[in-house]
Amino acid sequence: MTDTIRLALVGMGKIAHDQHVPAIAGNPAFELVATVSRSPNGVEGVPHFHDIDELAKSDIAVDAVALCTPPQVRHAIAAAALENNWHVFLEKPPGATLAEVAVLEELAAKANVTLFASWHSRYALGVEPAREWLSARKVTSAAITWREDVRQWHPGQAWIWEAGGFGVFDPGINALSIATHIMPQPFFIEQATLDFPANRDAPIAADVAFRTTDGRPVTLDLDWRQEGHQSWDIVVETTDGTLKLAEGGAVLTLPDGSTPHHEEGLHGEYPGLYARFAELVQGGRSDVDIAPLRHVADAFMRGKRREVEDFVE
Ligand code: NAP
Repeated sequence: MTDTIRLALVGMGKIAHDQHVPAIAGNPAFELVATVSRSPNGVEGVPHFHDIDELAKSDIAVDAVALCTPPQVRHAIAAAALENNWHVFLEKPPGATLAEVAVLEELAAKANVTLFASWHSRYALGVEPAREWLSARKVTSAAITWREDVRQWHPGQAWIWEAGGFGVFDPGINALSIATHIMPQPFFIEQATLDFPANRDAPIAADVAFRTTDGRPVTLDLDWRQEGHQSWDIVVETTDGTLKLAEGGAVLTLPDGSTPHHEEGLHGEYPGLYARFAELVQGGRSDVDIAPLRHVADAFMRGKRREVEDFVE
């Protein structure tokens, strides 16, 4: 491997173009050597391939891939990449099931390459200072509210409504990636209700009640039918006052009114993820935390299903 990590980007949809391409361009540890997608929607001046097999058969030298496809098709692509001894960066969620992620971990270990299950929301500017502040505090309750308009944020994404697309848990897992990172105690589901539109295979809303291992309630309110004001908030009550993390983890407010945050740059979400991926590859390590995915799997396993009116885009 040369010093620069020669990276191919796979699944050239919204997140690949909006976030991955600029984050890769802004990090000298990486060189974007190829894009892979069924449509010709690549990056000007960068060789483009229809699928990963075509890339593997080409004469392009690749060290790593970042996978931005929908979760349902990610495992097969990741497994093929690991078999080529390429390092793998997985967009969130790391898979459509828990078992397939465990298989990828084994493949990566066998190939002696890096597997990175990324959680971009953990790199939002307020998250690390929130974790630090809470680590020395006693939590009495927490409320997570993630309410957004699916028509605004996920237009035309058929996969998100299919089984394995997660529905409202696609953004909801971002909230859980933050909560599992900042809460000083682990928590687990006691009750959940998932609202499925009669014409869809994934939920449009969910109401989940967790409890921490020391008995404190944590609620998760997810709704994709929110019009007007959108909420991506986590409010944690502690014996030292209320912590509020708003705007998807970007804005932290502590009880004294202060708003600490990490500096932009390498701590921004996607620059932060690529800095971490480079560090893992260079250090010969993997980072696969499945805690957020496990909570989503538990919600589907433990939750009551309620049928609601059809969703028509
Ligand atoms: P998207 O716009 O639908 O893009 C996904 C791309 O994957 C498509 O453009 C498609 O390109 C390719 N693809 C490959 N196989 C596919 C299949 N069987 N069905 C549909 N598309 C297929 O989705 P996205 O918003 O970028 O999200 C992709 C992943 O990133 C998801 O896991 C999502 O949770 C995550 N993510 C999204 C955001 C966001 O704000 N949108 C933020 C963070 C993370 P081709 O048709 O050219 O193959």
